[in-house]
Amino acid sequence: MNNIKRKQPVIVVQNLTKTYFMNSFELHALQNVTFEIYPGEFVAVMGPSGSGKSTLMNVLGCLDTPTSGQYILDQQDVSRLKEKTLAAFRNKKIGFVFQNFNLLPKLNAFQNVELPLLYGGVSRTDRRDIVEKVLSEVSLKDRMYHRPNQLSGGQTQRVAIARALVNNPSIILADEPTGNLDTRSGEEVMQIFQTLNDEGKTIILVTHELDISRHTKRILRFRDGRLEGDEGMDHPLLAVDFLKEFIDHKDNQDDFVTSATELTQD
Ligand code: ADP
Ligand code: MG
Repeated sequence: MNNIKRKQPVIVVQNLTKTYFMNSFELHALQNVTFEIYPGEFVAVMGPSGSGKSTLMNVLGCLDTPTSGQYILDQQDVSRLKEKTLAAFRNKKIGFVFQNFNLLPKLNAFQNVELPLLYGGVSRTDRRDIVEKVLSEVSLKDRMYHRPNQLSGGQTQRVAIARALVNNPSIILADEPTGNLDTRSGEEVMQIFQTLNDEGKTIILVTHELDISRHTKRILRFRDGRLEGDEGMDHPLLAVDFLKEFIDHKDNQDDFVTSATELTQD
């Protein structure tokens, strides 16, 4: 931790407020939120439904702007950037992973992952190299030509993680990435995040599952739009330990696509 803190913070949030103005009343989704995140941290954002977690992620991901307060991302005050510069900055710095995967159903895994590179004007051969590399990182090179409906939930989320990695972002923002997954697939996703974090990526992950949060190194707790807790975790659970046990129980080795879903190809 001390090592980490000697660097500059990658995220500084100061007195951040987000207010939604509804017909006749104001909804305070975030109130006076202040914290810093350093490169290489792995942070869980927790709190009951409606506590402002997604609103926070949208602001951190530069998808939404705060009503007041400051947000500094990698030494840049993002509230001062124009939309076009902001979009370029966001694409370079941040990879997003969502609860509902957000893949395009008509594109296969390769094409879904390739999409951000197409927008970025990367050449065809470079695209192929990068897509194959990130799909191997999530152990899905053998599912490259499957469409989302031909993959299990866990595999679909791993494609989405691969897509988040193509521009080599230093920060990954994940909003309930295991929310729609069974325990084992959730652990597989956490194992990928833990590996990425070991390699130096900063990860911020929203979850309401205690077991998932225990895989991270720090927990920020929100309630009613306020940050009410910030604790470091000394001994995060290792997903790899959980998965090792699973593999020992041969009965449970049924994660990968069943023949029934393979048959849905047309
Ligand atoms: P969480 O992700 O913790 O469940 P959210 O950040 O989605 O919480 O929402 C926080 C509060 O802000 C909730 O009361 C929600 O209804 C409200 N809210 C979120 N987005 C909007 C919006 N676009 N317009 C109005 N209210 C919103
Ligand atoms: Mg939410």
